[in-house]
Parts: sequence; structure tokens; C-alpha cells
Amino acid sequence: MKSLVDKAHHIVIFTHMAPDGDAMGSSLALYHWLNNQRPKANDLSVHIVVPNAFPAFFNWMPGAADILIYEKCAERSNALIAEADLFICTDFNDPKRIGPMGDKMMANPCPKILIDHHLNPVDFADEVHSHPEACSSCEIVYKLIKSESLSGIANLTVEIATAIYTGLMTDTGNFSFNSTNCELYEIIADLVRAGIRKDDIYNAVFNQYSADRMRLTGYALYRKMRIYPEYHLALITLSADELERYHYQVGDTEGLVNMPLQISDVWYSVFMREERPKPGTPKPRIRISFRSQGDRPVNIWANEVFHGGGHANASGGELFGSIDQAVRIFEQSFPKYIPRS
Ligand code: 5GP
Ligand code: MN
Repeated sequence: MKSLVDKAHHIVIFTHMAPDGDAMGSSLALYHWLNNQRPKANDLSVHIVVPNAFPAFFNWMPGAADILIYEKCAERSNALIAEADLFICTDFNDPKRIGPMGDKMMANPCPKILIDHHLNPVDFADEVHSHPEACSSCEIVYKLIKSESLSGIANLTVEIATAIYTGLMTDTGNFSFNSTNCELYEIIADLVRAGIRKDDIYNAVFNQYSADRMRLTGYALYRKMRIYPEYHLALITLSADELERYHYQVGDTEGLVNMPLQISDVWYSVFMREERPKPGTPKPRIRISFRSQGDRPVNIWANEVFHGGGHANASGGELFGSIDQAVRIFEQSFPKYIPRS
């Protein structure tokens, strides 16, 4: 990391589509850290470019206002990508996960650093920090920052610590899964010492519902949740019409897929959300989220049937077609991937 960063003048940090707390946190922590390393030098520019919009409940994060959203400013982003002399890719394992930007990134032969905790990264980066055992990419970023003081400058500012804590918190469901490693709590202690306001971060991310979002959640659980009891499986679907009725905003369905897992006999949960067709794509996109508890992987199902993948207990995929079609394929496929009991 140090040797590549020391040589760079134009760094672009990428993170995945539909940025979550770990994507936001890991990219912002790197952004602040890199800027702090060479604070007075004007020979360094650092930009974060994300493929599409992030939820408004991350707007408060220090530096979030500086993030470029490719869908909204492709021209400026393309210029930055073309002139970059170092890319840092965080929280994704395949250039495809950053959408059309992936091709632009690969067209620039400059060095690429990958920092990620997803399984089986595609071999595209020159320096790889891939740790599937880490709870989040933020955990890896924390360790890199602690181990690599680029020019002896103090590492863990409160901005950096806040960004890192956000990713640790969101990728573990506020420390309710993937979080039994003692070291994680040592990291948190260090972040608290660095001055983070832990409870404020929780409130800023999780207690920010609009009334519409709360009503949409109620509607989805009351009217749209189906349970397949022999398979301990729940499915929620929301069409574009239904989302519009509740004035859907990016992030409004975040976490909805986890809710059926609160039912004692539900171990698998799937959520489908319809997106209106984009210009040039005749069919709507159905975005599908998979969750499970314990030793019950869903990533193979997401990969083989819905062209996606992810972690064993949290995966995603997609289908271009109608919600009805997606439900039909879901119902035909789940008996192959989920044991009946
Ligand atoms: P979510 O349901 O929150 O969108 O995604 C859950 C997890 O599944 C993400 O953290 C990501 O690791 C993975 N994931 C989501 N969509 C895809 C996809 O299209 N391809 C792959 N390989 N992984 C995905
Ligand atoms: Mn992550």
C-alpha cells in the first residue's frame, strides 16, 4: 500500500453499487486518511466515485458531500478515471460490481489496490487485501491504517474512526452477526478512544425513517410477506407501483429483508424490489436480496439462479422481467437449495 500510495498523484477510490455503510465507511476512511497523509501538498488529489446514489441516512458522514455519483456526473467521473494514477477498490470483488465504471477503470492500466471481504475476488488488482474472514471492509481498512503510517502522521482521526465504526456496525447488523471475534471489540475500543460518538452514529443510521418509509415497512410486512413454513422461508415483494405509492427514496427498503428472520421459525428470507426499466432496457429489473441464519448458505442459490452472489448469509442477485416471473423462478428453485424440514 505505502509504496503505491507514495508514488500516486491522482487517486480514485471506488466502491460498489447501492453503497451500504461498509462501502461508505471504508471509502471515506481511506479518503480522509490519504488526504491527511499529505495535507499540505497540492500534488495529490483524492476522489471517491460511487456508481449510483447512496441512502440519505449516510449524508451526515464526514466527507459524504464530496462523493461523486457516477450516474449523475459521468463526464467528470470519466475524466478523473482516465487521469488517475492509482485506483483503490473497496468492498467489492469484481469490476462488474461497480457497473459501467468497471470497464472505464479497467481501461486505465494504472495500479489497482483491492480491499475487500467477499469470497473469491476476481483477479484484476495489483495489490490485494482480501480477507473473507473479516466482518467488514472497514475492519481491513482499520488494520491497514494502523499498520501503515505513510509519513509518520497520526493515523486515527475522529473522521476516520467514525467512518470505520459505521461499516463495522452496519455489516454486522449492529454486532448481531459475524461479530464474535474478540479483536473486533478491541478495534471498537480504539475507535471510542479516538473520539467517536458511538450512540449518535447508531441513531444517525438506523433511526432516520420518514413516515412514508415506516408505512411502507408496515405495508410490506402486513400485506406482502409470504411464508413457506416447511422451508422456514419468507418472501416479500414490492412492485414499482407500490414503492411509488409510499414515495420511495433510495435506502427505504434497507434492512427490510432481515425482518422476517425475527420470526422464530423463519431461517431464510428473500426480498424482491422492482425497478422501472431504464432507457434502453425494455424490461424492469428485479433486485433480489437473500438472507439466512446459521449454517444455511444462500449465495449459491443467488449465484446459480439470479446471476448474483455474496456471503453465505447475505447475498444478492437480479432478474430482468416481471415480479411474477421472479416469484415463479424463486418458487421453482428454492426446493433445490433449501432443505425441507
Ligand atoms: P444486499 O441484499 O444488501 O443488496 O446484498 C447483500 C450482499 O450480497 C452484499 O453485501 C454483496 O456482498 C452481495 N451481493 C449483492 N448483489 C450481488 C450481486 O449482484 N453479485 C454478487 N456477486 N454479490 C452480490
Ligand atoms: Mn461489506
